[in-house]
Amino acid sequence: MTKSIIDLENIYCAQNYAPLPVVLTRGAGIFVWDDQGKKYLDMMSAYSAVSYGHCHPRLVKVLQQQASQLGVVSRAYYSDKLAPFLQKACEMTGYEKALPMNTGAEAVETALKAARKWAYEAKGVDENCAEIIACKNNFHGRTIAIVGMSSEAQYQQGFGPFPGGLKQIPFANAAALERTITENTAAFIVEPIQGEGGIIIPPAGYLKECQAICKKHNVLMICDEVQTGLGRTGNFLACQYDDVKPDGLILGKALGGGLLPVSLFLANETVMSVFTPGDHGSTFGGYPLAAAVGLEALNILDEEKLWEHSKTLGEYFLDQLKAVEHSAIKEVRGRGLFIGVEFHADAIAAREFCERLMTRGILSKDTHHTVARFAPPLVIEKTDIDWAVKQIQAVIAEI
Ligand code: PMP
Repeated sequence: MTKSIIDLENIYCAQNYAPLPVVLTRGAGIFVWDDQGKKYLDMMSAYSAVSYGHCHPRLVKVLQQQASQLGVVSRAYYSDKLAPFLQKACEMTGYEKALPMNTGAEAVETALKAARKWAYEAKGVDENCAEIIACKNNFHGRTIAIVGMSSEAQYQQGFGPFPGGLKQIPFANAAALERTITENTAAFIVEPIQGEGGIIIPPAGYLKECQAICKKHNVLMICDEVQTGLGRTGNFLACQYDDVKPDGLILGKALGGGLLPVSLFLANETVMSVFTPGDHGSTFGGYPLAAAVGLEALNILDEEKLWEHSKTLGEYFLDQLKAVEHSAIKEVRGRGLFIGVEFHADAIAAREFCERLMTRGILSKDTHHTVARFAPPLVIEKTDIDWAVKQIQAVIAEI
């Protein structure tokens, strides 16, 4: 079946991805199974969306219960599920208000719209002059405005023209931020750790410095924690490593419990009040099903303090990987269960490394050709990591 299903997908699906040749049919906890019954340890977690493990019983129960009660009503009406979800999200993050969306990209777009309108209404920027500053090597999603902020040629090639007012500066360079800010700057958007860019960790204090610069120039600082948030990096939020609370926070991926697309833009009233009825919206944003699952996902995270597990196990995993010595490895880096192994470009392509790992029962994913990422569900245990390290070691030894 494997080949025929891959062939069928190749016939009917747009070729906008290059999946590894495995057909997954089932998942439970940290494992997934393919159509031949082979079991894999999931070290990708759907780009960090599956922090609780696949088909978490509590989340599945809430999903089923809610699906049989009320699915979608749109925001044309109130539902009994949205407010408790947003209340929990605001309480856990410390923001006054949240705006629900579905995908990460939509929440990023929401943040950009909020920042622009805030610049016109609160900061007094002239109409259509607001500027947003992003970092090179970022990943914030795939809409036209968002790829307009990207430095990745392929993300832009063939999709122009892009909106104006989008600037880029080097990542991890606070001086460049200060140099680039003008009186028209609305916001600076940044990932606390660049995920798709190759698990790039800025030096300690970088975000803190950026926050001070943003404050000084009356610029909103927005952290895109779609991937790094909700325990992935060993803290509830990655910006907490720098003791920073940005003016705007973007969450997604794991917020949907590995079952649904659920995202949020969070901010205080001073920013969020720019939105008035009709300004912005989404038919599915915050729908009862998503809100019920999102609330349960936050409850689990809060009750189990999964970020602590992520920190402990992440440190252990990182140490084990760092102990693997081989000339093909350029660097092993990570925070919490968000780890990248970078290979020298001439030693092995990260894609090939991931394919070889797959035959040994581990699913990972290359990013930026030279980096293999390891981001298992946060519920992984030490014995599973020990087994994984053995497989990784074996593949590296083959290089
Ligand atoms: N922001 C970041 C930091 C991401 O890593 C991603 C997805 N990899 C997105 C935004 C976009 O999320 P989505 O794919 O759900 O639109």
